[in-house]
Amino acid sequence: MMDTLKLDLVVASRTLADHGVIDAYGHASARSTANPQRYFMACNLAPELVTEGDILEYDLDSNALDANGRALYQERFIHGEIYKARPDVMAIVHNHSHAVVPFSCTNVALLPIFHMAAFIGLGLPLWDIREAQKGSDMLVKSPELGSHLAAALGAHPGVLMRGHGSTVVAENIPRAVGRSIYLDINARMQYQAIVLAGDGGSVSYMDEAEVAANVSWQNYERSWRLWKEKALGRLIEEKAAAARGSSR
Ligand SMILES: [Zn+2]
Repeated sequence: MMDTLKLDLVVASRTLADHGVIDAYGHASARSTANPQRYFMACNLAPELVTEGDILEYDLDSNALDANGRALYQERFIHGEIYKARPDVMAIVHNHSHAVVPFSCTNVALLPIFHMAAFIGLGLPLWDIREAQKGSDMLVKSPELGSHLAAALGAHPGVLMRGHGSTVVAENIPRAVGRSIYLDINARMQYQAIVLAGDGGSVSYMDEAEVAANVSWQNYERSWRLWKEKALGRLIEEKAAAARGSSR
């Protein structure tokens, strides 16, 4: 079970990187199914490079239990503090999607414009780190900042972080990854629609009933199978290339 979870985190990291949702920064985590007081996340490494051996186990205070000297993500408290506050959350993606950031620092609300991102209609609160700490470097580097962020998230599926990015949560890894990818796509589509409509034009968003009808079942299952196959295929190629290299 644990190894499946670790492998799924490898797939999640590489898939999010492939879609440009996370670059060298940003991270995906999953709560342990064996012990809800633990979660798994990579050590401090660009997500595109993550393999199973890089996935560490953390307690909910975000201490790594098996780091063996490896550096940790500074923003790991985002994950630990949300897992503490939200027993229903099993997976978390923190990202710096370039398309989403403008919606975090303007008065333009990010709304569901595209059915694959219907979950946005459940509400994405905006968190401003300035309300927790003045003059910060914008990073969630302490348990206090993490719990302040978790409080802003409340019962929602995600939270926008002013001038920084967003954090998306779900009941499983495929849903957290799918939501993060389609949040980024929705942000781009919404920007395009607003520009296309121009002054005096109008943009139609999904309504509450449409959101409810979609969110209940949208698990991104077909996408996840595709993403997993691609990521695992690349992993096999990398291992084969490494083996060829070491046998020379
Ligand atoms: Zn960040």
